[in-house]
Amino acid sequence: MQFKSIIGQKVLIDKLISGYKENRVAHTQLFLGDEGAGTLAVAIAYSQFLMCNNKIDDDSCGVCASCVKFEKFAHPDLHFYFPTTTNQSVKKDPKSSFFLTDWRSYLSEHKGYITLNGWYEYLGVGNKQGIIRKDDANEIISKVSLKSYEGNYKVVILWMVDKMNESASNKLLKTLEEPPSNTLLILIGEKYEQLLPTIRSRAQLVKFNRLTDDDISNELKKTGIDKDLADDISVLSNGNWNHALEIKENAGNNQFNFITFRKWLRLCFQPKDYSELIKFNQEMAKVGREKQKSFLNYGLEVIHNSILQNNSNGNIIKKSGEELDFTQKFAQFINKANQKEMYLAFNQAIYHIERNAHAGILYSDMSFKLIDLVAIGRSYASR
Ligand SMILES: [Zn+2]
Repeated sequence: MQFKSIIGQKVLIDKLISGYKENRVAHTQLFLGDEGAGTLAVAIAYSQFLMCNNKIDDDSCGVCASCVKFEKFAHPDLHFYFPTTTNQSVKKDPKSSFFLTDWRSYLSEHKGYITLNGWYEYLGVGNKQGIIRKDDANEIISKVSLKSYEGNYKVVILWMVDKMNESASNKLLKTLEEPPSNTLLILIGEKYEQLLPTIRSRAQLVKFNRLTDDDISNELKKTGIDKDLADDISVLSNGNWNHALEIKENAGNNQFNFITFRKWLRLCFQPKDYSELIKFNQEMAKVGREKQKSFLNYGLEVIHNSILQNNSNGNIIKKSGEELDFTQKFAQFINKANQKEMYLAFNQAIYHIERNAHAGILYSDMSFKLIDLVAIGRSYASR
């Protein structure tokens, strides 16, 4: 990772670079920051910068032999330690080195922006909590005692030192205090008060602020979403990039569901030409099962909201703009004559999708039901 791919944190990165230029790189540094602030991503970009054979003024080159290894998180002088626990493939005595392949793919998938819960989920460890243990500490000691492969820096990154236990930290005291020359230890943590005092006292603190709304909004816009949505998400994300991505994913689903559902309803409302509807059914059959489930659940929610609306509880519908407008219009066609059948139809469709029903047949069937049910609702409404 190069500095240029880091989200925000420009002031902090400038300080790291000038520290290097002025020959003041502390041997043991503590990168402290909340989830989604980019502590690990910056630590990796910083290490890559230090080891780059062909630095440009304020970044690594991204193409030299060293940088190429960094892009795969697999430089022989870059060592990662992180919380681990047992899972399907490591059944006893877990330690970081047993999980390096997983670690590298997880890092690649998330471009260095990872979370502790995400990591546990990736490893499939259930509710167990990970720890950095004595076995990890022993490996660190032996790694730093060896010469570097490429005769340059050696970097050890300890991600989530909050999770290091006391026996590991006791083992590491001397190494943290006085690492061998050209060795850099970067400790990364989230909660200062949870860190062992021995760690706090031995490392130079590099404090990360949360990202600003602008940082997040600008980065989101690069992914192709429009400015208004990017601004909304950035405000909700509280300076946490991982949280912003989560919100974006949900927002994307909701937008897809709304637009698709509205289209479907329009096609089922007094259809004259069925070809568009057949095309719709075929397209929906290609959508992944999880997305279909989410879509059908959305349909159920619209029906539920329509019933609320009709019972003068409209103000509790948590929708706005076009979506609220659509729900209010749709609600006039959901009434005593068809609401129960509507509810049932969607519930059954969800039930069948969960049990791997043939999606093409299911959507054809649902479309015919919707045509009938909408017609029944319309004729009841116009009485
Ligand atoms: Zn380079």
